Amino acid sequence: MLYSELGGLYNKLESTTKILEMREILADFLKAVPAENLSDVVLLLSGRVFPLYTEKELGVAENMMIKAIMKVTGHSERDIREWWRETGDLGLTCAKAIASKSQHTLLQKELTVEMTVSNLRKAADMTGPGTVDKKLSLVSELISSADERSVVYLVRTILGQLRVGVGWGTIRDAIAIAFGVESSSVERAFNLICDFGEVARIAKDDGEKGLNSIELEIGRPYRVMLSQTVDNLAQGFDKVGRPAAVEYKYDGMRVQIHKRGDKIVLFTRRLDEVTKQFPEIVEAAKKAIQADNCIVEGEAVGYRKGQPVPFQEISRRIKRKYDIDEMAKEIPTITNLFDCVFLDGKSILKTPFKQRRKKLEKTVKPVKHMVLAEQLVTSDEKQAEKFYQEALDDKQEGVMMKNLDAAYQAGSRVGYMIKIKPIMESLDLVIVGAEWGEGKRSKWLSSFLLACRDPDTEKFLECGKMATGLTDKQFEEITERLKPLIEHQSGRKVKIRPEIVVEIGYQEIQKSPTYASGFALRFPRLIMVREDRSVSDANTIKKIRELYESSKGEQVKQE
Ligand code: AMP
Repeated sequence: MLYSELGGLYNKLESTTKILEMREILADFLKAVPAENLSDVVLLLSGRVFPLYTEKELGVAENMMIKAIMKVTGHSERDIREWWRETGDLGLTCAKAIASKSQHTLLQKELTVEMTVSNLRKAADMTGPGTVDKKLSLVSELISSADERSVVYLVRTILGQLRVGVGWGTIRDAIAIAFGVESSSVERAFNLICDFGEVARIAKDDGEKGLNSIELEIGRPYRVMLSQTVDNLAQGFDKVGRPAAVEYKYDGMRVQIHKRGDKIVLFTRRLDEVTKQFPEIVEAAKKAIQADNCIVEGEAVGYRKGQPVPFQEISRRIKRKYDIDEMAKEIPTITNLFDCVFLDGKSILKTPFKQRRKKLEKTVKPVKHMVLAEQLVTSDEKQAEKFYQEALDDKQEGVMMKNLDAAYQAGSRVGYMIKIKPIMESLDLVIVGAEWGEGKRSKWLSSFLLACRDPDTEKFLECGKMATGLTDKQFEEITERLKPLIEHQSGRKVKIRPEIVVEIGYQEIQKSPTYASGFALRFPRLIMVREDRSVSDANTIKKIRELYESSKGEQVKQE
């Protein structure tokens, strides 16, 4: 199949922003794709050349692309960089460079989908000396064989920047329309095998029946079930029913453990294989898991000198290629198992959670590095509250609540599993500046500069500006309190002598070049004026840094 057909499709897709229209265009296109190309075409449509679960990366960055364009078109690096600056897009730059090439090669513009995928897979597999040159040749060969329109998309695909606006949802629905199957069956199949291309092929060849016969397989990762959030235990019970399983929410890395005989394979929730990186989990699984074959899930928590460490510390181990044993010694993990989805040759995804947990308990004999997640089954909110407190006292993040009768829904956030954890800690900060309001608020100070303390220099370091969360009455009161503390005024801005401590809630801490502390609170709001606190009680920059670091771990996990 010619790549230019794909180029034409991308071009059409780019001309509309309507999802329904895109779906129809895509479905019509997929119907006509020859069977032997379907899997690759669907992967390419999702902007990839590998399924979701392979760790392989093309490893072709902008600089190499510029070299390839130079090689193919004979233009200077300066020209190419200049066009890149103008267009902001190396795909368009490449098309321009080809169009204005002085000498046209005699090469036929007959790039095929097969050649595209084959060259790019070869490039990804390369290692060792000479890799850069060989990759450059493979990429140049593709570029020189593509026509002017398709090359735009080809270059973007290689750079991982294909932005034609078709997300997985659209591809899923288009596959369903094209091959007359249910969208939900396509979704289910994808959640179990994580390969868009393969799912499309099965939908075309074997239809609904083929999709529905897909099951979990040992050694192949699946998309895990995700949780929803509620604010408190009462809401949790409302969502998952009574009685419910309440479990410790551990702060670590979610791990899928696949076992067949003596062979153990580990995957993260992002489907990276991490068997080599976590030898102690492999060893523990061999000892703890009594079944010959099964897939269990748990949260691996890292420890340093016996104390649990935040997620980002063990996340350092995920991509590690060297010094693996040292890292395993430095930050060993304990895996807390909480689910079993495959046992003795068959998937038990549809088995209710309470029975899956029973099977897990029967299958696992706890050892030092692998235990069962702490669990309480209760209908009673007070008991659940006590358990939640115990989890926090044990330095865990909070609790999970689970529906006892629910199946395991791979890849979904369906509400069978709920998380509850305390909101971000509030901070006590000092007001060091303010601005007079405008209009109705012109007699009040209405925007307040907040600062934390630096105990080393005795200085106050700014970390955010609060302008919301106050009632009119509070604006008035706080203005009265601050007026005598005004040290200096310039325009509407005033400098305030640091005396007043306020308790501040916020959504997030971000790095910021604007403030002296180097951090900025997002959406700070007043909780109360802390008349009981003096400025020496205010939180320090160290505290903010710690909170930032721990929340960063949370963001990485949610990606
Ligand atoms: P979140 O990542 O914030 O959506 O929270 C859900 C995550 O908590 C899961 O993906 C697991 O990695 C982790 N987790 C910790 N303890 C448990 C548990 N007992 N059951 C299920 N997930 C858990």
